[in-house]
Amino acid sequence: MTALPLVFDAPRRGMPPRHLADLTRDEARAAVAELGQPAFRADQLARHFYRGVTDPAQMTDVPAAAREALAEALLPGLLTPVRHLSADGGRTRKTLWRLHDGALVESVLMRYPDRATVCISSQAGCGMACPFCATGQGGLTRNLSAAEIIGQAVAAAAAMASGEIPGGPGRLSNVVFMGMGEPLANYARVRTTLRALLATAPYGLGLSQRAVTLSTVGLVPAIRRLTEEGMAVTLAVSLHAPDDELRDSLVPINTRWKVDEVVAAADAYAERTGRRYSVEYALIRDVNDQPERADLLGKLLAGKLAHVNLIPLNPTPGSPWDASPLPAQREFVARLRAAGVATTVRDTRGQDIDGACGQLAASDRVDGVPSLALPTPAMPTPTAEPPVPLGSETDGPGLEGTA
Ligand code: SAH
Repeated sequence: MTALPLVFDAPRRGMPPRHLADLTRDEARAAVAELGQPAFRADQLARHFYRGVTDPAQMTDVPAAAREALAEALLPGLLTPVRHLSADGGRTRKTLWRLHDGALVESVLMRYPDRATVCISSQAGCGMACPFCATGQGGLTRNLSAAEIIGQAVAAAAAMASGEIPGGPGRLSNVVFMGMGEPLANYARVRTTLRALLATAPYGLGLSQRAVTLSTVGLVPAIRRLTEEGMAVTLAVSLHAPDDELRDSLVPINTRWKVDEVVAAADAYAERTGRRYSVEYALIRDVNDQPERADLLGKLLAGKLAHVNLIPLNPTPGSPWDASPLPAQREFVARLRAAGVATTVRDTRGQDIDGACGQLAASDRVDGVPSLALPTPAMPTPTAEPPVPLGSETDGPGLEGTA
């Protein structure tokens, strides 16, 4: 008989352990039954998880003898808060999370008078390489599991409910996939997440479809696949340029799927769901903010079920680019509106804590100085799930034969 070899290398970076939130209700019940417990305990665990209860001792409806084993098997702690950074008098709060393998991601909770929105990450890093985005410049570390994505929303819901965000106890009303990562490149897990956000208790957060926004660079086959899912969440498309020549460099996936194809896919989504989609456009000084481009964008979108959301560029470290000055922003808005296109300018909440759009880098920085305590993890070595930006064969958006 040979002894097991000693292993000195750390295990290769991979997905976290299974969690109840990765499973359907039937799968969760089967998993509980396998542990020798009645299936309804799965519902009890789900209720605790979605209410943000993490301590098994508080799960008093589950017999004490079974709590630890059930929680260990189905509710492993996947997200460890490393740090909260607050702005706007505490009403904007960015959380840096450490995952089981040391990977870091961020989420941002923003409380407004009439709603509370959490911006969540779907990947650690991002493979889409947009040159103006801090996440894109850092590359892709790995996909998040559904439970890791859902956990960010659950934590935000719990923070709102507990009253720890100024303004008294409240309810999380909105979720936007505008944190780190390209959600449609992690398709299957993001779909599981969407279902959980929309599902009612005990297996979800019970949000309304219109209160959930999925933002994408424009992975056309995945947008088409989402169109068939029968979920009418709000779709946001990161366009950033109305012409292929410029978009090829600002949103490199455009070399694969062109402006017209992306807009056509979004139109089909709007037609199927009846929901207006939003076109994200970061206004970058002298890069994409010219009056001619406003007119081109107006022409592209006139008469469509679309709404333009302009985002004055949030500066990222090392980038030469800068936000468009106010007069250029105003001119851009005026031209789009003149073309009959609904247009708003997004506020830049959380900019001072690097918590605004495109600023999430999840490096463990304090006042801009990298901390040695928790180095940002290195890129993974390829595993069964290679870190390709378009998703693996099993969970990707089905890109084969669509080029
Ligand atoms: N990968 C997805 C979602 C993440 S980013 C996507 O690209 O849509 C959310 C939004 O922030 C996107 O519209 C993105 O283009 C935009 N963004 C990225 N970097 C930015 C920056 N530096 N300033 C303003 N917006 C930025």
